[in-house]
Amino acid sequence: MKYLLIFVVIFLVAWKWRSARTADQMELRRERERKAAAPTEMVACAHCGVHVPARDAVTGQRGAYCCDAHRALAES
Ligand SMILES: [Zn+2]
Repeated sequence: MKYLLIFVVIFLVAWKWRSARTADQMELRRERERKAAAPTEMVACAHCGVHVPARDAVTGQRGAYCCDAHRALAES
């Protein structure tokens, strides 16, 4: 009877530890999917009109540009 009680306690601890770990992994996976699914903001180049991701755009005095050459051409 004593061994059965010890076995049940070990089983419950292992089950609790495992379910907590699984919940953490599910949360991490959900967070990763949320980041991957987020839309990328696009801006049009003020010189040629090509759309580029906002984080890659070159910002000038008259707006965003696709590259430094177009910023220089538009603002000179
Ligand atoms: Zn351009």
